[in-house]
Amino acid sequence: MVYEQQKARTDKVKNCLEGRKSMAKPLNEVPVTALKGVGGALAEKLAKIQINNLQDLLFHLPMRYQDRTRIAPMGTLQPEMDCVVQGRVVAADVMMGKRRSLLVRISDGSGSIGLRFYHFSGAQKNQLKTGAEVRCFGEPRRAATGLEMYHPEYRVIKADDDTDVEETLTPVYPATEGLTQQRIRALCQQALEKLDNPDALQEFLPEEVRWQYQLGSLVDAVRFLHAPPPDVSYELLEEGQHPAQRRLSFEELLAHNLSMQKLRTLVRTVKSYPMPPKQELTQSFRKELPFALTNAQEKVLAEISQDMMEPEPMLRLVQGDVGSGKTVVAALAALQAVENEFQAAVMAPTEILAEQHEKNFKSWFKPLGITVAFLSGKVKGKKRQEVLEQIASGEAMVIVGTHAIFQDEVIFKKLGLAIIDEQHRFGVHQRMSLRKKGEANGGQPHQLIMTATPIPRTLAMSAYADLDCSIIDELPPGRTPVNTVVLGDDRRDQVIQRLKTACVEGRQAYWVCTLIEESEALQCQAAEVTAEHLKKTLPELSIGLVHGRMKAAEKLEVMDAFKAGHLHLLVATTVIEVGVDVPNASLMVIENPERLGLSQLHQLRGRVGRGSIASHCLLMYHAPLSQQSRERLQVMRDSSDGFVIAEKDLELRGPGEVLGTRQTGLASFRVADLERDSGLLEDVKNAGRVLLEQAPSNAEPLILRWLGHAEKYANV
Ligand code: ADP
Ligand code: MG
Repeated sequence: MVYEQQKARTDKVKNCLEGRKSMAKPLNEVPVTALKGVGGALAEKLAKIQINNLQDLLFHLPMRYQDRTRIAPMGTLQPEMDCVVQGRVVAADVMMGKRRSLLVRISDGSGSIGLRFYHFSGAQKNQLKTGAEVRCFGEPRRAATGLEMYHPEYRVIKADDDTDVEETLTPVYPATEGLTQQRIRALCQQALEKLDNPDALQEFLPEEVRWQYQLGSLVDAVRFLHAPPPDVSYELLEEGQHPAQRRLSFEELLAHNLSMQKLRTLVRTVKSYPMPPKQELTQSFRKELPFALTNAQEKVLAEISQDMMEPEPMLRLVQGDVGSGKTVVAALAALQAVENEFQAAVMAPTEILAEQHEKNFKSWFKPLGITVAFLSGKVKGKKRQEVLEQIASGEAMVIVGTHAIFQDEVIFKKLGLAIIDEQHRFGVHQRMSLRKKGEANGGQPHQLIMTATPIPRTLAMSAYADLDCSIIDELPPGRTPVNTVVLGDDRRDQVIQRLKTACVEGRQAYWVCTLIEESEALQCQAAEVTAEHLKKTLPELSIGLVHGRMKAAEKLEVMDAFKAGHLHLLVATTVIEVGVDVPNASLMVIENPERLGLSQLHQLRGRVGRGSIASHCLLMYHAPLSQQSRERLQVMRDSSDGFVIAEKDLELRGPGEVLGTRQTGLASFRVADLERDSGLLEDVKNAGRVLLEQAPSNAEPLILRWLGHAEKYANV
């Protein structure tokens, strides 16, 4: 009986212990306030650098390390290399110079060094008196008296003090105001102690993946990076190439890959409509075209056509350099939908482009008996009502416009194909909102996304992993490459003369004004001033102006006049960036090209070189140019290949800038670096496949671990 009682009691204790153990939460669920010494104020500071829970803290990796594991003999010190020294104070004086300071000289027998304090207290002065033994850490710099450390960290060593130097390298973390390194280090130390619990940071990579790609355990990697041993290869660490760093980058990239796959699966859960090519409308259209499609256009078209036959929605990204002829391909895809009695919608990113498409599609499709409707924010009142009815009744089978065509009030009768032109301005959000449109109809439209901004392969793999990709890698015949010249704006007068000569000879030209992009108002103003100036200087030319603040009708009128050849010169802001097609224009002046991204410049330049005459692009920069700007403009001069330019742009500016993180919904990475780690992407892709086969239930928590907040994007 006694035994029974005792057993019951031990069982109870045991259960209780076990209960406690299994209650240990994963670290992403433990707020930083659970740490000793973290209250509301500190938690707020941490939140500023995206540290909310203990997992965030552990993924907040050091940006570099200090070696405090050994005491350097003073005779061997090098300037600018952080180090620990220890010695006896041989002199301590308050210097009066330009600024009052305390200069303490310490010596260890092998040499000596000065410690200089511009701010010091009386107590400090007393502490650092002659004869005291001091250990300090800092960066020796050359000074008039030899090497000196300014405001080093220091400690006076008592006779009975035998504290050792550090056993591991000391991490230096990205910090924020009011958050010292000591503080972060202490917090990380506390968090690291919690890693002993197996649930703290669960391992989600299957054995096979870890074995195949030689990846250690996550916990080991995290421990290592917060406290590497002194004999580590510092070079690897600095470059982010250490196996422990690679382990984390790999996992983060894998999480992104899985989230993209999830997005893709989500989109494909809804059925679409098979639309086999019937070669009715498409044949008549081809017969009327004044040219034959290039092989590249044919190839891409065949891929699209095949996709549209499937009962699953097409999700295809077509990349084609400026002028490669994407519009015709879009038109043929739209016809395949219409042949099957489905509506096709074409969305452009700007009013000007939408209007240009409207004109093209109307002139192509009217002869085929197809009604094309146009909708943008500027179509209002009774006209808008009419258009909406045409779309709802199915009278309009092709709908062209700006993003207005996918707003809630627009009800399609039977939308079968959505074409999004110049997609680099649209992101995951928009792709997802299209999905909703389809669902309302009981099926998902096929999606065709077209971009002239070539997306470097590495970026495409991570940002657009949910799309299939086609490339139109050939320009229509008879194009002559644009000759690009880089010159300073001190040669403006010469440029204007050259412009005059060209225009008098019957050619047409663009003059593009750029300004800081955020300020459209200023940009428009600059264009107005420039247009005025050019009109005065070149009275013999007819000069037009377009900018984003003009009324749609005005803009269109000017564009039409330019297209028809009534204007010699078109002064414009970057609104003409994408898509505008005037083959007779063969000269372009771009002011302050150094303010634009390379891909944007490439887009602009693509407005010329569309006819058979030799074209010129003058990049007129404002001196002085930074080294990077110089390199960038050089790239424009040397290459006319959009892919090469995009790769260079990526190299010089980084992925966030190239894709526009905000627009694309491409979350930024914590550990991984797309450029540095691009070599991992292929392996990551395979690993994703293995993981979904062997441990599918790990996918969701892995995505959550790395993209917890960004995941919301996917649910738009
Ligand atoms: P982008 O790919 O930049 O959108 P567009 O579709 O505007 O290019 O086409 C650029 C120009 O090339 C247009 O004037 C178009 O009519 C013409 N074009 C397209 N395909 C061909 C082709 N196969 N042969 C000749 N000209 C073509
Ligand atoms: Mg286009």
